[in-house]
Amino acid sequence: MNPVREKITLIGAGLNGPLLAILLRQRGFDVDVYERRADMRRVRMDAGRSINLALSTRGIHALQQAGLWERMRSIVIPMKGRMMHSPAGELTFQPYGKNESEVIHSISRAELNIALLNAAETEGAAIHFNQRCTAFDLKTGAVRLREEDAGESVRQASRVVIGCDGSASAIRSEMLKLSRFNFSQHYLDYGYKELTIPAGTDGQHLLETNALHIWPRGNHMLIALPNIDGSFACILFLPFEGQESFGSLSAPANVSEFFANRFPDVLPLMPALAEEYFANPTGAMVTIKCAPWHVEGRSLLLGDAAHAIVPFFGQGINCGFEDCTCLIELLDKRGADWLQVFAEFEKERKVNTDAIADMAIENFTEMRDRVADPRFLLQKKVELALEEKYPLYFVPKYAMVTFHRIPYSVAKARGEVQDRLLAELCAPIHRVEDIDWERAERLIHRDLTALELQT
Ligand SMILES: Cc1cc2nc3c(=O)[nH]c(=O)nc-3n(C[C@H](O)[C@H](O)[C@H](O)COP(=O)(O)OP(=O)(O)OC[C@H]3O[C@@H](n4cnc5c(N)ncnc54)[C@H](O)[C@@H]3O)c2cc1C
Repeated sequence: MNPVREKITLIGAGLNGPLLAILLRQRGFDVDVYERRADMRRVRMDAGRSINLALSTRGIHALQQAGLWERMRSIVIPMKGRMMHSPAGELTFQPYGKNESEVIHSISRAELNIALLNAAETEGAAIHFNQRCTAFDLKTGAVRLREEDAGESVRQASRVVIGCDGSASAIRSEMLKLSRFNFSQHYLDYGYKELTIPAGTDGQHLLETNALHIWPRGNHMLIALPNIDGSFACILFLPFEGQESFGSLSAPANVSEFFANRFPDVLPLMPALAEEYFANPTGAMVTIKCAPWHVEGRSLLLGDAAHAIVPFFGQGINCGFEDCTCLIELLDKRGADWLQVFAEFEKERKVNTDAIADMAIENFTEMRDRVADPRFLLQKKVELALEEKYPLYFVPKYAMVTFHRIPYSVAKARGEVQDRLLAELCAPIHRVEDIDWERAERLIHRDLTALELQT
């Protein structure tokens, strides 16, 4: 089969669509991408979901495969750890990894999107903007596209359709009509709002540059990621309803008072707080699981369309990009036998995307609450000490997810065993210097040496 003759339609030019288009074009496929929004390179867009993203190893690996990572280095800021801000304004820094190479990278979503769109077009993909997919024929694989300005609709046939159209996927909506299609969606009771800490007068960052800042406050939190222009993109996570909630902060005075009480060190850094707060929408966060992801070798769901997850492990796009590399590896291995490739793709990925979806929810409690707990901070130090001594057997869960490409399901299973081991080791001590190394060795031998660890 000659791949050049195969026409592939991608729905959605968010982040996964253009990356997949690049990888497919590099293998000679004929790729058309249809995007419902206008071209963000020509039309100013409202901020999308989250201004900034944290890119880590899985996402970087995919960008390397596409030959893009070196070009992106100039638009990312490495974040070496979490900088926790207490209510009294005290700072505690907790490194993410065991050394300077284990960092995550703050990148503007728009800059990343633009770089991917440019590269996809350079590779020869055709990207059609203002084209909304309104229907998908499960039997023939044809899509119906509506031109958003003129309102005209056309039917488009192709060999394969891949839905990269995000958590509200139109392709998935059609699949819902299949008999025995499994679907679950779960919204958090929390919403999020994007805010900004502008750059200082000389364009400098007003907080430590190379950190992800967190103001953990039990049932809510604020985070800030650095931008290359000296500003910080902040996200406020708050319950939708209740005493301290998006529902209760209904007037500018309430918002300022809330920040003065909860985040006093940040209030002076946000001169346009109330204005931004009311101008920006309150977003919802959803976990979506579904199956099957494919229909008879004609269509496939990928990225958030197949598995939307909440943002607390910073893995949504890293996981989506890993989908792209996994699909491409299978295509390289099997050729364009779409039925087999899609079936193997789902088998390999679903167990892992389910695992990261669960870990992302667990991490919410950790970020908003536990990171301020001295016992938790001790455990983090003990984790790093164990990793240094037993690098083949003990890798912290955060590191397995963020700095390795160990399958998420392995990271989850191993992480659970390690959490129990850590609780046992940390219970009698208050300082990392007091680790009982004999006991540590015994527990590692008992619980971890038999578990598979592919890095
Ligand atoms: C607050 C927040 C913070 C986050 N932080 C991180 C982070 O730090 N790290 C990380 O890895 N991930 C993060 N994520 C997750 C990440 O944003 C998503 O996983 C990622 O955007 C998914 O990419 P996608 O291409 O699958 O979908 P999207 O980015 O949603 O793109 C889908 C595209 O399809 C288009 N589309 C939709 N419907 C149609 C249609 N009917 N016809 C044509 N086009 C259509 C849309 O306009 C859009 O351009 C975060 C998410 C949120 C909400």
